[in-house]
Order: sequence, then structure tokens, then C-alpha cells
Amino acid sequence: MAVLPIRITGDDALHTVAEPVETFDAELKTLVADMFETMAAAPGVGLAGPQVGVSKRLFVYNWTDETGTLWRGTAINPELWLSPTPVGEPDEDDDSEGCLSIPGERYPLHRAQRARLTAVDENQKPFEITADGWLARIFQHEYDHLDGILYVDRLDSAYDKSIAKVIRKKGWGVPGQSWMPGEDDLEA
Ligand code: ZN
Repeated sequence: MAVLPIRITGDDALHTVAEPVETFDAELKTLVADMFETMAAAPGVGLAGPQVGVSKRLFVYNWTDETGTLWRGTAINPELWLSPTPVGEPDEDDDSEGCLSIPGERYPLHRAQRARLTAVDENQKPFEITADGWLARIFQHEYDHLDGILYVDRLDSAYDKSIAKVIRKKGWGVPGQSWMPGEDDLEA
């Protein structure tokens, strides 16, 4: 297993619609194992293929909810059904989201409260999860990655200007940049 470099916003893989996974082989299992290791090292609660430069429709997630239940799995070729997205101002505390491809930043946006995920795992076993709250948010965030959408693409205009400034200042927003979990100090 290996920790993989995580692509930073501006990289082509993050802004491209990913292709379905068609081959379920040892290579796919290695990729999934590496993605779990990379997500743990980051650390993060979700990681999508495009974030490690693999433009395929898969993501991994690892999140413990308020009741202590661990939600951990691999979603390949997922589909997502959502409840309506709330309208109005998002809450800076409750609705703030981050992304390993825009490291160190958090901005608020509304997401659907409920999501139903159907997918297969790395053994092609189908599964379905009905998620609420933060888990539903994780699924929406990771699913977006497979369509080449980052959460900052969905921000209200006030935040949109702010993140654009951050991206410019950090020299992101251009292809070919990545960071290495466990090695790079992102707060620097
Ligand atoms: Zn992300």
C-alpha cells in the first residue's frame, strides 16, 4: 500500500467528468487500498479517484457519526438520489465544508439533508445506504468530484470571491499541483 499525492484545484483530473470503472481487478483493489491509506494520512473523511489523478467513478469514505457508528466503504460507479437542497444563507458553523484538493480552507454551503447512495464495492458487490446529515454531505461532496465539480464551484457569490482570492494567492488553480499527506505542512 502507498500514500498517493493529492491533486490540488486547477489540476485537469479535478475538473473533468470521470469515466465508469469497467475492470474489477487486482489493480483496482490496490488503488482502493492506496486511497484508504491516503485518506487516513491526510486525514480526511472522503477521497475520490480524481483527487489522486485517477479519472474513474469511485470514492472511499471513512466517518464516525455522533452515535459512534463507523461508516466506511468504497463506492464504485455510484448513483445518488437527494432530498431538496435547503435555500437561504448557509450557516458558517454547521454548513462549512472542506476539501483535500483545496487544503486548509473551509466554506459554507447548503447540501441536501438526505441522500440515497447505490454503488458496488471493489468486489462488484452492490450496496445501498440512506444517509442523513453529514454522511449525506460527504456522499454529495465525493459524488461531485466524479463529475468534475468541487464544492467551491457551488459557493454563494460572497464566498466565491474569497476562495478565488485564496486560490490566486497560493498559486493554485493551475494544472499539475499536488501535496503529499504526511510530508507537506499545509498550514505553512
Ligand atoms: Zn473534495
